[in-house]
Amino acid sequence: MSVRVDLPVGVRCAVALSYDLEMCAGYSPVLVNHGRIMPPLRDYTLGLCAAAEDFGVRLQFFYVGNGLEDADVGYLEQIVRRGHAIDNHTYNHVRLTMADTDLLRQELDLTNRRLEERLGVRSMVLRGPGGEPGGLTLMRHNQQAVLDSGFRWVSCHMDSSMGLYGPAHDAAAPSRLQAYAYASGLIELPIQGWMDRIFFDFHRCRDWDAQDAWRRTAGHQPTADGWTCPWTGAQALGDWIDYNLAALDHAYDHGLLWTPVWHPYTHYLHDPHNQALPALLAHARSKADPVLVCTVREAVGFLREA
Ligand SMILES: [Zn+2]
Repeated sequence: MSVRVDLPVGVRCAVALSYDLEMCAGYSPVLVNHGRIMPPLRDYTLGLCAAAEDFGVRLQFFYVGNGLEDADVGYLEQIVRRGHAIDNHTYNHVRLTMADTDLLRQELDLTNRRLEERLGVRSMVLRGPGGEPGGLTLMRHNQQAVLDSGFRWVSCHMDSSMGLYGPAHDAAAPSRLQAYAYASGLIELPIQGWMDRIFFDFHRCRDWDAQDAWRRTAGHQPTADGWTCPWTGAQALGDWIDYNLAALDHAYDHGLLWTPVWHPYTHYLHDPHNQALPALLAHARSKADPVLVCTVREAVGFLREA
């Protein structure tokens, strides 16, 4: 079943930018993903919020629930107090396509409970870890588990065609993978275009041994001042920004809702001086007609079942 996007009157296009806030497994010496965010990454994330606020924009975060067992969640309280959104990204960063549906229910329900207990937040939208080519189409039981955990919306279907057909195809990502409803009635808002993790650490990785050596010895630890990533070239950040501006242009030209997915940790490593977010927001503001940069929570409010 298809889903229509009704943007607010006067808005030419919308960008629902979200960050998956986590200590990514691919950066971990033991390949474990969790939500116990290291202090410099907490600071970096609050810096992203500040940069967004300079443009009057609120950010969307999806959070790995086990971090809510930390004694100090002051940085998350601050994010919420400043008007940004935090939603469920499972408790242990498990795939929504996992075979054990009961375990999936526990993952979703425990994270919802902790978000309410620790932050007073009722999660509305679920972001699936990893990104799923094909979404949850073949997973009827898991669709039902997501619905039963109180979600009408999920965002997990990823674009597996990125990087295969050249820059014009990549920039046209907002035209592909439109929102749709599963047979169960659950509504999918797909992940459109490059995820930063895939772009920097796979697509643009030119030295896998360097990445692996860094992960084993320095992953999940603060980077030193002046550290530069040893597995990407000097042009990677500039090219990342150019891709995002081009995708925004495409969304603008075609009046689309675009849902890109970034990670604070990936930007902490590859964009330590936080250039990408202000560049995207400045580009949005420079357009003749209004571009709405919104949370995923707001974006799902524009979805209508056709
Ligand atoms: Zn994730």
